[in-house]
Amino acid sequence: NLSERLDRSFKLLKGEGKITEINVAETLKDVRKALLDADVNYKVAKQFTDTVKEKALGQNVLTSVKPSQLMVKIVHDELARLMGGTAIDVELKSSPAVILMSGLQGSGKTTFSGKLANMLKSKKGKNPLLVACDVYRPAAIEQLRVLGEQIGVPVYSEIDSKNPVQIALNAVKEARAKGHDLVIVDTAGRLAIDEQMMNEIAAIKKALNPDEILFVVDSMTGQDAVNTAKEFNERLDFNGVVLTKLDGDTRGGAALSIRSVVDKPIKFVGTGEKMDALDIFHPERMADRILGMGDIVSLVERAQEQYDEEEAKRLQKKIAKNQFDFNDFISQIQQIKKMGNLKELASMIPGVGKALKDIDIDDNAFKGIEAIIYSMTPAERSNPAILNGSRRARIAKGSGTSIQEVNKLIKQFDETRKMMKMMTAMKPGSKKLPSMR
Ligand code: GDP
Ligand code: MG
Repeated sequence: NLSERLDRSFKLLKGEGKITEINVAETLKDVRKALLDADVNYKVAKQFTDTVKEKALGQNVLTSVKPSQLMVKIVHDELARLMGGTAIDVELKSSPAVILMSGLQGSGKTTFSGKLANMLKSKKGKNPLLVACDVYRPAAIEQLRVLGEQIGVPVYSEIDSKNPVQIALNAVKEARAKGHDLVIVDTAGRLAIDEQMMNEIAAIKKALNPDEILFVVDSMTGQDAVNTAKEFNERLDFNGVVLTKLDGDTRGGAALSIRSVVDKPIKFVGTGEKMDALDIFHPERMADRILGMGDIVSLVERAQEQYDEEEAKRLQKKIAKNQFDFNDFISQIQQIKKMGNLKELASMIPGVGKALKDIDIDDNAFKGIEAIIYSMTPAERSNPAILNGSRRARIAKGSGTSIQEVNKLIKQFDETRKMMKMMTAMKPGSKKLPSMR
């Protein structure tokens, strides 16, 4: 699965400080392979990795974020960008506004028609009319009727007519007469691209001049979905894509390829058979899904949120003046603990992450450190230079640790302080977590 593959390849990322040509090449090869396996179109995958490479190379990795985490973030943001950036709504201008469904048989058009009517009715106060234009399968009309009943939306159909264009036109007339401000036209699909089907839906488009034509596609059909989308788009120039069946064990790759091959936004995702199983498409969330790494991404974001700007500025000054002391150290530890999972988060906190690098970071490790610092007097905490042998012995006793442990912490603290001072001298502003978006 794509997320596991990416996960593994990111773990291969070695190298500290900077993302370099060498440590990025292997990873990108894996990313590309993983994308191809997830049915992402070859050209799209290549383009994607090229862009990621460009963005990643030479990025300075600050102490707060590991190179692999930064890579994840870059890949994630690029995925989101590729899939459309922000969520896009349907545009309903005419009265009544007309939305036309297109797509292969079984893609989920009829189900989605019901879901969309339900959503626009309950969330936007629309008064929709559903129209059954599948004249080939009587069961299809019945299916839409049942759905309409469930959501309390009337369904227009003509049992005896074999002319979908005429049915659609009559439905719009009916909508006008009965005060519906929205007409959702469900159409017939075929199992594969078929000239007659295309002619038929093109004729409906011509007759109705719909506000929106939505292309509905089963997200489980992978690479086929891309080809289908391309053909429908060439013929209909649709406005947006609906990805259905995203509730199953779906390969997210289709979303990525469709978006970049037809350059039309994905607007909705279907996540189940029930009438409320419909979501507006959020590129960010889809990127999370494809990566399966939402936790890492949100981890980085969480760290950023929790990181108090003013505290950062204050620390910056203290570090520059070499005044960073054990009070700051302990408040940094508290910051880490506030954020939850210690092991993962420790490395994000400037300074502390480095200082704790050699320690097995779990609650116990923190307890020892905290105990030592709390056993210091305020004077010792703010002026570590006065920590002579007898003071250290007293602290060890008071904290229930050993002199060796106290010495080790003080040594690490000194090194951290030196390193931090060096860093701030080299790069003003590096105390701040890098801007992520
Ligand atoms: P149509 O031929 O394009 O009209 O497709 P249908 O709306 O009849 O859907 C085909 C099948 O897929 C039906 O069994 C639906 O219940 C099912 N289906 C549609 N959308 C979804 C979805 O988002 N999730 C799941 N799990 N099933 C769906
Ligand atoms: Mg149908």
